[in-house]
Amino acid sequence: MENKSGSRFILIFTSFVGFMIGGVSCPCGILSVSGGVLMRAMVLREFHRPFVPAEVPLPAIGPGELLVRVKACGVCYTDVKISSGLTPGVSLPLILGHEVAGEVAGLGEGVKNFREGDRVSLYFYLNCGKCEYCREQKENLCADLRARIGFQWDGGYAEYTRVPATHAFRVPAGISFEEAAILADAVATPLHALREQAGVKEGETLAIIGAGGLGLQAVQIGKVLGARVLSVDLEEKRLALAKSMGAEETFQAAGKALEDAVLSYTGGRGVDTVLDLVGKNETMHSSLNILKKGGKLVLVGYSFDQPFSILPAILMRGEYRIIGSRACRMKNMEEVIELAAAKKIKPLVTETFPLDRVNEVHSRLKKNEILGRVVLVP
Ligand SMILES: [Zn+2]
Ligand SMILES: [Zn+2]
Repeated sequence: MENKSGSRFILIFTSFVGFMIGGVSCPCGILSVSGGVLMRAMVLREFHRPFVPAEVPLPAIGPGELLVRVKACGVCYTDVKISSGLTPGVSLPLILGHEVAGEVAGLGEGVKNFREGDRVSLYFYLNCGKCEYCREQKENLCADLRARIGFQWDGGYAEYTRVPATHAFRVPAGISFEEAAILADAVATPLHALREQAGVKEGETLAIIGAGGLGLQAVQIGKVLGARVLSVDLEEKRLALAKSMGAEETFQAAGKALEDAVLSYTGGRGVDTVLDLVGKNETMHSSLNILKKGGKLVLVGYSFDQPFSILPAILMRGEYRIIGSRACRMKNMEEVIELAAAKKIKPLVTETFPLDRVNEVHSRLKKNEILGRVVLVP
């Protein structure tokens, strides 16, 4: 670990080995005046303000927890919503980042199934494990959620984070840390939406609205499930990537033009499933209009200012099903790791940035200038 704070901290050591914190061996670190080990992080101190580089105490791990040296952290559009104060239940200061992969750097009391150096990707819903939903393996719906990493629990925009060992998933060496990071959300979320929620089957036609961070991974998941995938976006570059991920056809259109084009492509029938990753009023209505009768609209994208109103008679006549899908479940973590290890999918990381350039990544995300998924590396 390096000291980049200049005169802000008086450092006793710039690096040392074997410092003990909370009974846990810390591999390296810097000491603050008060004697705690510090790490570099980009901290959100105020909503609508840039992340601030800071040296903050290394997370102190409790029983059953792992200290994880962050090797890669994906940047999700949800992070923009959090930093804008739009996401409920978030208080500051906070270290964001919910797509985290790294190496185990310390073991809390009682942890037997991990060793230092193990490569892991983290499941970010820190669920209770006891409620009705947890007992049904619907961890994402937990009624007594402790926190979500990067929302109410310091996450991956830092050199280290901590996690209950139950929420760390081993990643084989054939998957890079950058890929392992985005498996946790950008890849696992479309898998949950398309398999559990929509029940997409071999030979069905699937339209994916949005070819961004999730949409490009979703094309691959749709293909793995055996669907014919149509990708919809307004940006040509994104659609070219969607095509390279295996989309059968791409549509650079919105509204009526999109609806006409998709209906014409499907011979007037419409598609079996639409996965809407944008969640604007216009995309949700167009999504319904391109469904075949009895088709399913799965909503993953959302805006807090875009309600979706529909005449019940429309739903009734077409027997359409509108389904919400929230992030992913623990079993999806194992599944995406297996799919990536078997080379059935290739998690698409389009750019890598050093952690201290996170503000640049966020401003480009806000301007819609990011192609695919960006990963931060501490
Ligand atoms: Zn996310
Ligand atoms: Zn629960």
